[in-house]
Amino acid sequence: MAKILIRNADRVVTMDGARRELAGASILIEGGAIAAIGPGLTAPGAEVIDATGCVVTPGLVNTHHHLYQSLTRAVPGGQDALLFGWLKTLYPIWARYRPEDMRISTQLGLAELALSGCTMSSDHLYLYPNGSRLDDTIHAARELGLRFHATRGAMSIGESKGGLPPDSLVEDEAAILDDCIRVVDAFHDPSPQAMTRVALAPCSPFSVSRELMRDAALLARDKGVMLHTHLAENDEDIAYSLAQFGCRPGQYAEELGWTGADVWHAHCVKLDAAEISLFAHTRTGVAHCPCSNCRLGSGIAPVRAMRDAGVKVGLGVDGSASNDAGDLIGEARQLMLLQRVANGADAMSAREALEIATLGGASVLGRAAELGSLEPGKRADIALWDLRALQAAGSWDPVAALVLCGPHRVRHLLVEGRQIVRDGQLITLEERALAERARRATARLMA
Ligand SMILES: [Zn+2]
Repeated sequence: MAKILIRNADRVVTMDGARRELAGASILIEGGAIAAIGPGLTAPGAEVIDATGCVVTPGLVNTHHHLYQSLTRAVPGGQDALLFGWLKTLYPIWARYRPEDMRISTQLGLAELALSGCTMSSDHLYLYPNGSRLDDTIHAARELGLRFHATRGAMSIGESKGGLPPDSLVEDEAAILDDCIRVVDAFHDPSPQAMTRVALAPCSPFSVSRELMRDAALLARDKGVMLHTHLAENDEDIAYSLAQFGCRPGQYAEELGWTGADVWHAHCVKLDAAEISLFAHTRTGVAHCPCSNCRLGSGIAPVRAMRDAGVKVGLGVDGSASNDAGDLIGEARQLMLLQRVANGADAMSAREALEIATLGGASVLGRAAELGSLEPGKRADIALWDLRALQAAGSWDPVAALVLCGPHRVRHLLVEGRQIVRDGQLITLEERALAERARRATARLMA
């Protein structure tokens, strides 16, 4: 693979062990990996990316999303509802999705993420109407070129059994486990340079049985893949757990094998001190979704307490039906602001928010050995931000400025050393054509 030299960055935010920020540094990329970082690098024959005026960061990592929801943004009946009411509004619309809608929606969501600095995203797909498969999203992500952790979600308790989703959107539990095995065998790549990984992800404790939660954990350990679900999202969620299971969500998770370094839970807004301690000592990860938590009025996740206790925390935008944007650098800002609302202005620095958005996310997804920081030997997932943009003009500290003011759109983005965004434009897909395809698909869903 060709060599690329990112030359003369104003600042390289390495996120290495010493959290060094290098002025005037260059980065040499060979074979999809970082070969060298430092001042005055030269590489005859290399493609050169001029980083003058740019802050260069590790690619941002999105640890929680439902990309299929990108075609259901700002749906009137769901705009002002709490979580459970919101879901009941959207289920009938999602039941009309076809595989093509899954593909378009995935690309729309990932394109938006890429433009906001994201190089690696997980996705939680838990409903499969009209022949849709996890495969549809994996192929869509490959076309765009982002690193993709697809999770095989599932729901098995429909309305007739006291669950929330309509019966038409739930699956038989044996069929779910069979398909989990199929997609892991077909797509999961355990290698350090993996572009595609698969995890197992029953939607939430209130949409599958205790048995499926337990069996998914056993299967994941057998296959060597990770586990993901929603946990302790809001007060309704805690009340449901206490009423149905007789315990808090943390205890339920622990009893069924859902703690450990190979597990990450979305939201965790309502974790109490004992659950935070449980997550810290079991190395269980958290996908913090600040805008979604605000949008659904769920509360402020105790990220400060989690970080102080040693819990692995990454950032997630969550599905576009509950955000409704897919601006990952914007989530870093929102994370910082929310922790300040809860704990004071010195509770979360811009640099710590950026760390959670990069290294934190890589750690939550089990990729910290090869991603999340800019160091020789690591994979070349890199975001370049042009601080000469209007949004950052007037700033005194370019690194803090990125989170405190902007810009929110990258100048260049590289994944595995390949350019996905160049001069602010997607190059693997055409942005306007993609938006038009999404607009047409949405019109069909509205009809
Ligand atoms: Zn979610």
